[in-house]
Amino acid sequence: MSDIELRARFVEVALPVPLRRRFTYALPDGIAVPAIGSRVAVPFHGRKLAGFVLGHPERAPEGVKVIKPVAGVLDAEPLFPEELLRFLAEAADYYLHPIGEVLRAAAPAMATEALRDLRSEGFLDRGESLGGAAVATKRALFVRASGTAHEGRLGRKQQAVMALLIERVEISADELRAHVGAPRAVLRGLEKRGLVVLEEREVLADPFFASEVAPDVPPALNEAQARAVDGLVRALDGAGGTHLLHGVTGSGKTEVYLRVIAEAQARARGALLLVPEIALTPQLVWRFRARFGDRIAVLHSGLTDKERHLAWRGLRSGELRVAVGARSALFAPVPALGVIVVDEEHDPSFKQEEGFRYHARDLAILRAHRAGAVCILGSATPSLESFHRATDAPAGHRFELAELPSRATAQALPPVEVVDLRRYGAGPSGHPLITGPLHRGLERCLSEGGQAILFLNRRGFSPSLRCGACGELMQCPACSVSLTEHRRAGALRCHYCDYSTPITLECPRCKRHALEPLGLGTERLEDTLAEAFAPAKVARLDRDTAAGGRAIEAVLERLRRREVDVLVGTQMVTKGHDIPGVTLVGVVLADQSLAFPDFRASERTFQLLSQVAGRAGRGDRAGRVVLQTFQPEHPAIVYAERHDYVGFYRAELEHRRELGYAPFGRLVAVRVDAGDEGRAREVASELARLASRHAAVRRELVAVLGPAPAPIARLRARFRFRFLLRGADRRALRAVARVIADRIDEGLGAARAHVDVDPVAML
Ligand code: ADP
Ligand code: ZN
Repeated sequence: MSDIELRARFVEVALPVPLRRRFTYALPDGIAVPAIGSRVAVPFHGRKLAGFVLGHPERAPEGVKVIKPVAGVLDAEPLFPEELLRFLAEAADYYLHPIGEVLRAAAPAMATEALRDLRSEGFLDRGESLGGAAVATKRALFVRASGTAHEGRLGRKQQAVMALLIERVEISADELRAHVGAPRAVLRGLEKRGLVVLEEREVLADPFFASEVAPDVPPALNEAQARAVDGLVRALDGAGGTHLLHGVTGSGKTEVYLRVIAEAQARARGALLLVPEIALTPQLVWRFRARFGDRIAVLHSGLTDKERHLAWRGLRSGELRVAVGARSALFAPVPALGVIVVDEEHDPSFKQEEGFRYHARDLAILRAHRAGAVCILGSATPSLESFHRATDAPAGHRFELAELPSRATAQALPPVEVVDLRRYGAGPSGHPLITGPLHRGLERCLSEGGQAILFLNRRGFSPSLRCGACGELMQCPACSVSLTEHRRAGALRCHYCDYSTPITLECPRCKRHALEPLGLGTERLEDTLAEAFAPAKVARLDRDTAAGGRAIEAVLERLRRREVDVLVGTQMVTKGHDIPGVTLVGVVLADQSLAFPDFRASERTFQLLSQVAGRAGRGDRAGRVVLQTFQPEHPAIVYAERHDYVGFYRAELEHRRELGYAPFGRLVAVRVDAGDEGRAREVASELARLASRHAAVRRELVAVLGPAPAPIARLRARFRFRFLLRGADRRALRAVARVIADRIDEGLGAARAHVDVDPVAML
């Protein structure tokens, strides 16, 4: 123990409260001095909270009269290694977020038994959890169809449950409650009639380790892969740095990650792999297990507190050296970090949109840099920011670029046929979005024994309902968005809050029975396809059919086993699935994401189109893509048609330059919401005025754009306003943002506000 620690009479503590400051507590005699990075229980406004020790100041801060004592020390060993703690402090500062909340988001939940002990000893208040986004273990009730035919009449909710059970073999009672609002009594009723079987059991053994995985034999690298691996291993032995691995879909990027991570392991160094949504990439986890065995930590939201704790401890002790997970896995205490891989680095899900609003890709670069590790950003369609850094940034500021220009497998990238929806209407099925060319493409694909993926970015039966008599649009009572018709569930639902109401034909305004569906969702597309292409098996993958990790895996597994011929779905079908039988990809309506009020709408669309196109022809047989759009001349469409990333990049970059958006300017979003519209507007104006008075704004280093109502002006019964700070000078921008954050910390009455540094979501 160091001198300082021996003499320490005070500790500086970070608490999980929305205040950007640190707190000082006294150490009572006889209490062991807690190490930096360990947790202590402390009194705070009549409660006891778990805080993180950040320092051992020798004296109390000036002007503070009463310093309360620490109630107890919670960890014998520091929870966070020094490298991680320093990085997290830096991250908190960058995002102007309270460090206590950052540390809590990063920490695993404590083992349940330990928590119970602490509570019974009075160290902690009931309900106070020490962990991050942990999901507690609990017993859950599951419902399965029992296979008997319906007898007698069923209630509306019972019908809805049975309808869902046709799509899903098994569903949890919690999920049923969320989807159809069915209480237990409804389920018991169905059980009595012998239509369902109910089973209560413990959730859930980690699905990623449910089966054995045979070790794989690494393929011989092709030339481009070998060059990429060489460069990365040299960086691993040298100065680290950030490397952009730009490789077309199916070019073998994953093989490159595996090799570099194996090299890191051979040097007793740890590795971290971040993926956009782990539930959507079970295959990637299998590949890692096949290569590295079970000695990897797979971090995902389905883990119980205990499993999360074990994974954390395994990494902390050095027993596990590889961690795989979605964005929050970035905070895993991987020992002697050698490599961080961010797969699909362009994916918006790396941005956390609530609470601690960090971007996992940007923080991965920072963490790797501080740890002297290599950071690999992999993508077929890199974000404009990353590709710019790799190609056009000044030396010293530049990422290394490694390219894998062609597929690693037999087939080249699939040809794309663009279908102009202004010229083609409904084909033989009568569905307005299944044109003749798409219909024929499907017929041919199926007759040749292939499988198809159809992408439509709207769930539900129809995205909204309008009254044919008075024109009223059915809206959520709490949000300024329209309600989506979910016919199978018998409900109109808001996709932004939990609001749900039974389907009706009666217009709430004119009371006539004249509500008509407007637009087409995945549910209706699935129905039409099942009818038009019978006996082909059609399945659907979207947030409605796949609410849990296992459900997604089950659908993908059925597709892989060829039990499904056509998979219909939202963005979920575009992710990195590698299914050799898929020879046709259909983009049903490419225009939806183009219409988003977001300066990245075009980039996102190009990325989605390229990603989904990349699902075709990954096996022995060539694939093709049918892309339907109302704007065939739009750059996002034209360049996706040609698989021309660099062409798209150049065109879009010019556009961004003109508008001063990323990568040329940076943004900070300030969002305000309140139950009262006037109050929200007032606070937004006050904060914007405060920004405008800042010297950096007066000197025109930073522009204040707005305030204005947010594109979704009302959400969960709160009115939303926002403004943007934009500037190319990082320092100046931060200085203005800091003034706003300080003002928000002082409190805004009934309004809430936050700053979002480098925002992604624009809604
Ligand atoms: P990406 O991650 O770039 O989309 P993957 O790593 O999934 O690509 O590779 C696509 C397919 O090519 C996989 O089935 C993989 O096993 C195979 N593959 C990768 N590298 C090689 C190689 N050097 N030789 C043969 N097959 C390879
Ligand atoms: Zn709503």
